[in-house]
Order: sequence, then structure tokens, then C-alpha cells
Amino acid sequence: MDAGRREVAEAIARYHAELDPQGVELVAVSKFHPAASIEAAYGAGQRKFGESRAQELAMKAPVLPKDVEWNFIGHLQTNKVKQVVGVASLIQSVDSRRLLDAIDAEARRQGVTARVLMQIHVAAEETKTGFSEEELAEYFGNECHSALTNTHICGLMAMATNTDDMARVEADFKRARSVYDKIRAEEGLRGFDILSMGMSHDYRVAVACGSTMVRIGTDIFGAR
Ligand SMILES: *Cc1c(COP(=O)(O)O)cnc(C)c1O
Repeated sequence: MDAGRREVAEAIARYHAELDPQGVELVAVSKFHPAASIEAAYGAGQRKFGESRAQELAMKAPVLPKDVEWNFIGHLQTNKVKQVVGVASLIQSVDSRRLLDAIDAEARRQGVTARVLMQIHVAAEETKTGFSEEELAEYFGNECHSALTNTHICGLMAMATNTDDMARVEADFKRARSVYDKIRAEEGLRGFDILSMGMSHDYRVAVACGSTMVRIGTDIFGAR
């Protein structure tokens, strides 16, 4: 059920009151919700919205204000990269080098700079995608990012294990934060300053573990 306009606006205000003083950014995850829900949040001052499907983003972006900052958060197939690069201000879900290279090639073709996060796999589930800690260490350690011409890696995105065991969730988030800190310390990457972690049910744990950006859907827009 979609939340009403007023509920959406109130949720946005509540999140900003809680997160802004801590310097944590809010991405309102609008996937599967109609443009009217996004307009309600936009009217309350929200600018960053999260979508997980290329097709849905391509439908929504043209009918919403130009200053919406679209964040792509779903698994992206390389053949859909064309639809997302140039539209999304941040692609959070880069989960393979093949995808990263496809994004870079498309950004070059369009003459734009793609901003991305590398998704790190910290959850227990095998189904979740992303780079392992070792793969990230190898990627940055070998300076592979310097071969990118039109892509800026702005940080990491992580999802915790989907469980009620908050100790496990905390352990996942802490590991993501430690990898993020290590890359920052060892590689000294410029503008590598986003650690996106935390959803409706676990964002408080994520913020306590050092998240700089949370992605909230259900708690703002209602169930999908
Ligand atoms: C859907 C989704 C969210 C939002 O989840 P909620 O539980 O609705 O807050 C956050 N991050 C990613 C990657 C998602 O796919």
C-alpha cells in the first residue's frame, strides 16, 4: 500500500531531523511506487531517490523535476547500462569489473562522468552480489581504477544479512566500514567519501557503525 502524501512528507521530515545533524544523507527508495509518491517527498524537500530497475528509472525520470538526483541501487545488467548512465547521478550497485567497464565505456560515449559506488559483499547470503573484500583490495591495490577515464568511484555500498539477529547485522556493517576506512587510508583516493548502508529495518545500526548514506523505502513510501 502506498503511503498518503502527508505520511510521506512527515516521514521525510522525520528522517532529515534525525539524520542531518549526524551528517548522514537520505536516499528515499521509490522503486515500485508511483510518481505521485515521489512528488510528495520532493515537495517535502527530498532530492535523492533510489530506483532498482533500468526500465522504471527510464519511465520516471522524464516526468519528474530535473533536479531529482536518481540513485540506481539494483542489480544492473550490462545491456541496460545505456538507460542508466547519464540519468542516474550515482550508480550504487556496481558489483563486477565487467559492469564497471561497461559503465565507463558508456559514459565516455556520452561524454559524461559516471559517479559510482562499489558494492561490497558482506552478507551471509550467497544470493547477494558484490565484490569481496579481497577483490576490492586487489582492485585498488593494483590501481585498476586509474584506467577508468569517465567514471569516478565515490565509495562503497553494502547490504547486511537479512536477519533479525542484529549482532550479525552489526558485524556485517562493521566489516564494510573497516574495508571503507582501509581503502581511504591506503589508497588516498580523492572523493572516496560515501559509505551507503542501512535500510528501513536496520539503518540505525548502520549509522552507529559509520554509514554516511542510508537507503529507506518501506518506512517512507509504504509496503511494496
Ligand atoms: C529496496 C532496497 C532498499 C530499501 O529497502 P526498504 O527495506 O524498503 O527500506 C535499500 N537498498 C537496496 C539495495 C534496495 O534494493
